This record gives sequence, structure tokens and C-alpha cells, in this order.
Amino acid sequence: MGSLLIGGDNPIYIQSMCTTDTGNVAATVGQIRELEDAGCEVARLAVPDEEACNALPKILEQVKIPIVADIHFDYRLALASLRAGVHGLRINPGNIGGEQRVREVVSVARDLQVPIRIGVNGGSLDKKWSDKYGLSAEALVESALEHVAILEKFGFYQTKISVKASDVSLMVDSYRLLSQKVDYPLHLGVTEAGDDFAGLIKSGIGIGSLLLDGIGDTIRVSLTASPVKEVYAAKEILKSLGLRQGLQIVSCPTCGRTKINLIDLAAKVKKALTSFQEFDLKVAVMGCVVNGPQEAREADYGVAGGVGEGLIFAKGKIVKKVHESKLLDELVELIERKEGIDSGNK
Ligand code: SF4
Repeated sequence: MGSLLIGGDNPIYIQSMCTTDTGNVAATVGQIRELEDAGCEVARLAVPDEEACNALPKILEQVKIPIVADIHFDYRLALASLRAGVHGLRINPGNIGGEQRVREVVSVARDLQVPIRIGVNGGSLDKKWSDKYGLSAEALVESALEHVAILEKFGFYQTKISVKASDVSLMVDSYRLLSQKVDYPLHLGVTEAGDDFAGLIKSGIGIGSLLLDGIGDTIRVSLTASPVKEVYAAKEILKSLGLRQGLQIVSCPTCGRTKINLIDLAAKVKKALTSFQEFDLKVAVMGCVVNGPQEAREADYGVAGGVGEGLIFAKGKIVKKVHESKLLDELVELIERKEGIDSGNK
């Protein structure tokens, strides 16, 4: 897709979707750039009308990451989006009318080497399948395979598939079943997951379970929140599974042994290290000397709190003991100094 190779052993890419009116070029470009800065690698845009289609060339020339046009029902919008230069289409070929229309869209997509994502969704599943199987993994998968078969009939194989559901178990079961049946790249997501609390948990469980199984090629964390938060969340999921390098901050939950203001310190460390996001570093912020030094030693850098003071560690060794008020500055200064010199970690 565009410059990205998706599937197989390629990296798992982070995707999000703009919340702007696609017809509003300035707003949409602004949001895509915010997403790019946050680490988004593919952005999807709703293309519901001609106005949105007309905006696409102007949007495409101002952004870097591949853009996917999300089309429902209207094959003319699909054709216009392809001609405008989008890098991917999200469309279900069974929903765009007769064979002739599908043939037209598919032949243009093939000529331009633009992949198509088939996206089946538990909430909008074709009645034919829910009548036959109930709202189940079989129903979602059979529906997706029906769309896939249409593309295959026209000799099109640059296909990616999603079988999203808002119910986490259903979503996980559906992808597991689908992955046994096809070898196409899969796009993972828990749909209508909720706000940036419930949605994060549901997405973490659903996407995370599948990634641990080795299933999934692109991911989207759907949140009723800014899409930038979706990107941060997706990145965190990938990092926590060791699928992506980057800064990881581990911090203890605090307990009766904690004698420093650790919650405040952990938040400040996170903020102070924002510019280190791309560094493959583990930084531990621990409350005490019981578990603290061990965890801090295993990290690249760390602090372990004491009574009104704390130890600073680097690469397994105690660097110094400092007053509580100096812990943040000393830790950050140390990381900046060391990593500034050793930028090979980046
Ligand atoms: Fe408590 Fe120490 Fe564990 Fe933190 S590291 S939770 S302060 S025992």
C-alpha cells in the first residue's frame, strides 16, 4: 500500500481514521499531519460524496502516509478515489451493485496496484448470514469470504480483510477462524470499542490476543476520542508485545512502603521523555528498595525511591543517590547525556 509492504513478516502497521469532513482539505490535512507526528502509518478517510472525492488530490499532495478511501455502496466514488491517487480502498464488493460495477472498480484498482480492504462488521452484518449462523464468528467470516470470492473471480488478490465486532470474544473468534481459512493480510480492530478508557481495554485485549497468536498485519484502536490517542494506544500495544521498539516506562503501583511522591514522579518522567519516544529504552520508576532496585537494574535507566531520597540506576549500576526533589532532573539529565552521545539506540 503506497510505500508499505503489508503482510507476511513485514511490520505490523498502525492505522487510524480521520474524524474531519474529508471535503475540508485544510482540516483533514491538519489532522493527518498530527497523526503522522504521533506515529500513524496509514490513515483512512471517509469518502461519502463527490465533494470528498474532489478534495482527495489536494489532500494527497500534502501528506506523507498512505491514504485509504472508505467507500460505502457507491462504485463511482471508488473509481473517482482511485483516479485521485488513493493508496488503498475500503469497500465491500458485494455491496456496490452488479458485476459490471465490481469489474470496473477491480480493474482500475489492479491497474493502479491499489489494495482493497474488505471490512465486515458485526454491527452491520448482512442479514443473510446472521439468519443462517446467528451473530457469530462463522457469520462474519462467511460474509467476508463471500466478498473475497467476488474479488478473486475478477483475478484480484491484493486484498486485506477485517472482521470487526464490538464484542471482544466474537472479534477474537472471528479473526482466529478467518486466519485458518485464508492467507490474506488481516486488519485488526475492535469496533465501536468505546471511550479512551473502556475502548483501550477492549482493544488491548482483542488486538493483543490476536497479535500474541501471530495474527494481524495492520491494527486500529477505535476510540470515541481523538484519533491521535488511537495511534498512541496502538503503539503501546505493539511495544508491550515486543513488536515495536520504542520508549517503555515501567512504574510500580506504589504501596505502604512508598515514601516518595511516585505517582507524580512517574507522570513527570513520562512527560519529560516525550522526545525519546522512538528510542528503544526501558525506564523504571520504582517506589522503594524492596522490588525497586531489581526492576530498575533490568531497565536501561531507573530510579528507586527511599525516604525523601532515591537511587538512580543506569544499565544495571547505581549511578548516585539524590534528594527526592532532584530525582526527575537527575534521571532525565542522565538519559539525555547518555543517549545524546549514544544515538545508535535510535
Ligand atoms: Fe511497593 Fe516497592 Fe513494589 Fe513500589 S516497588 S509497589 S513501593 S514494594
